[in-house]
Amino acid sequence: MNETFGFLIDMDGVLYRGPELLPGAGEFVRQLRHRDIPFRFLTNNSQRTRRDVVAKLSRMGIDVEEQHVFTSAMATARFLAQQKPDGTAFVIGEGGLLTALHQNGYAVVDHDPDYVVVGEGRTFNLELVETATRMIHGGAMLIATNLDPNCPTQNGGVRPGCGAMVAMLELATGVKAFSVGKPSPVMMRAARKELGLATDETIMIGDTMETDILGGVQLGFHTVLVLSGGTRREDLVRYAYRPETVVANLAEYGEMLARHDWHPPHLADESRDLVAV
Ligand SMILES: [Mg+2]
Repeated sequence: MNETFGFLIDMDGVLYRGPELLPGAGEFVRQLRHRDIPFRFLTNNSQRTRRDVVAKLSRMGIDVEEQHVFTSAMATARFLAQQKPDGTAFVIGEGGLLTALHQNGYAVVDHDPDYVVVGEGRTFNLELVETATRMIHGGAMLIATNLDPNCPTQNGGVRPGCGAMVAMLELATGVKAFSVGKPSPVMMRAARKELGLATDETIMIGDTMETDILGGVQLGFHTVLVLSGGTRREDLVRYAYRPETVVANLAEYGEMLARHDWHPPHLADESRDLVAV
């Protein structure tokens, strides 16, 4: 059995839903810290900075540091800095994305940018879309922090996500966006490198098949689906790929690990075919 392992953990639907912590989330993170098991929280939401995320989690009773947070905004900014150092971007998005771009040597401009970068936020309006459309026609490249069609809201409903806003720009311009967030290998691989682990030492825990589990499967990570978010057990038959392990929530997964002295049983090669569906 592999003794070295660590976790990439989605947040919404895994740790919390709306303002409420989900069962077992606090204890799970405490155990990881107590046992020095490496982990990163992996979120497609580009709205918040690392510091904002740490503050939000702290209010909910989860104590972590900024280094534990990896957002699609950070992945996008780092990717652009590699592709075109010291570039310029017109941004439809909020603080998390703006901060990440600045930290990676990007200037945020409203004229003749290298890239139009779209993240989530409440600033979206038709004037911005018109400006962005003109820039893309003028040669700016279209980058999405993620393509999530919608995001869960506090009252159990959904609001339009970054993917919905990007779709509008794609339709208006005829240009396809390049997306960096989960399930893109760009973000999945960058997060694994942050963990400092190899592919088969990395365990992705998430609640969404199209992002967390698909990304994990494509990268060759171990995958754990929690049913505490947007996916129900009966949905699984609709997908051509499947998670290695399915649990109700982090409480159940924590119990599973505790029974095995905190060595994930699905890391042993011989058990890779055993899926608890
Ligand atoms: Mg989620």
